[in-house]
Amino acid sequence: MNKYTPVIGLEIHVELKTNSKMFCSCPANWFGKTPNTVTCPICLGMPGMLPVPNKMAVEWAIKIGKALGCTIAIHSKFDRKNYFYPDLPKGYQISQYDEPFGQNGIVTFSQKSKSGTIEKKQVLITRVHMEEDTGKLIHKDNETLVDFNRSGVPLVEIVTEPVFDNSDDVKRFLEELHTIIRSLGASDCDMEKGSMRLEPNISVTTKKGTLPNYKVEVKNINSFRYVKQAIDYEVKRHIELFEKGETPAQETRGYNEKKQVTFSQRTKEQAHDYRYFPDPDIPPMVFEQTSIDGLSLPEMPEAKLQRFMNDFGIKYDDAFILTRDANLSDYFELVVSKVATQSKIENMESRVASIIVNKKISVELSHDEFVAQAIQSLAPKHTDEKKLQEEIEKVIRDNPKPVEEYKKGKSATIMFLVGMVMRQMKGEADATVVKKQLERKLID
Ligand SMILES: [Zn+2]
Repeated sequence: MNKYTPVIGLEIHVELKTNSKMFCSCPANWFGKTPNTVTCPICLGMPGMLPVPNKMAVEWAIKIGKALGCTIAIHSKFDRKNYFYPDLPKGYQISQYDEPFGQNGIVTFSQKSKSGTIEKKQVLITRVHMEEDTGKLIHKDNETLVDFNRSGVPLVEIVTEPVFDNSDDVKRFLEELHTIIRSLGASDCDMEKGSMRLEPNISVTTKKGTLPNYKVEVKNINSFRYVKQAIDYEVKRHIELFEKGETPAQETRGYNEKKQVTFSQRTKEQAHDYRYFPDPDIPPMVFEQTSIDGLSLPEMPEAKLQRFMNDFGIKYDDAFILTRDANLSDYFELVVSKVATQSKIENMESRVASIIVNKKISVELSHDEFVAQAIQSLAPKHTDEKKLQEEIEKVIRDNPKPVEEYKKGKSATIMFLVGMVMRQMKGEADATVVKKQLERKLID
């Protein structure tokens, strides 16, 4: 099957957590509310109503564009995307067509390969634009109900270039994107509530580096795992069709997570012509470069990951876990600074990281309680120096082979000897001290 290469791109919709909706003053927090109770003539699409863009939503969309390395447009506008669907009473969705807020971005992040090496990955972002969410159809037995509470909630759409050739890389990128957007505070990206929705487009090529002349979109998936499953299912399906001498149809499909299969929803023949045109009710936007530059971003997760590794000596796996959640990394940094001021323990950052990641002390504790327990567990143990010297000498005497290997340059062997000494000392010694003393002894 090696002659086939998957070609995968992504569209991701993210609901912003503004107080009010995109173009009216209805609350944007629609989830769980009684159907059709947070609506008004604007978000219901009544004739003659004037939409007014939500400034916070525009700023967050631009911040997302900046965080994904996009060029931010000085000129931008909203367009009408015309189509008929029961969840869209006004017959068009306000979106952005040819002047999106952000274009040509790039996201760089590290990824652990199956062999354990850390690789740099880059994903090209085509565009980041803003639109309004639609209502929600609720299918019940033989009838369909519509709830307009979600109509007009601000939505950011992120489109990637078709740069992925496997579902693992897609999943890792989506996790990074999820962390980036959450760190901006722009959205909860809560998959279960549909505030982050994923649409992979998939095709398979026999000539690596060339784009196939068809693609299949799988709509509205709400978990990273399901995206991976849907992609794997589609790639297999396409290859089987090619093997039979057929070409997969250009179409839109859905994903049934219970059966773990995709199913056809719309084929090319029914494809839409959206007849975009600028929304005449909303004036075009012109931004000052200084105000775009002035929208500052917090430290991005990948930058924080690198800083934790470089400045604190934390290993990748621990740094990765700490930097997936800004609350957890903030907790870590505060605790570390308190440990540093309240104790004379040096170079303890990687050990504090390990305490948090391995849940040796609960992060549910207040900072001060955590710090007190951490200092206790980090403090050097009271050591019987005479016994320690005896044990070190004994371990060196009893383990000639590892000692020989260490002296020949296999430096990792020292940890075996440290472990032997620590066992004899029943933990009543500081492993770093033991390591230093062993090293000194073995130079002689
Ligand atoms: Zn409204």
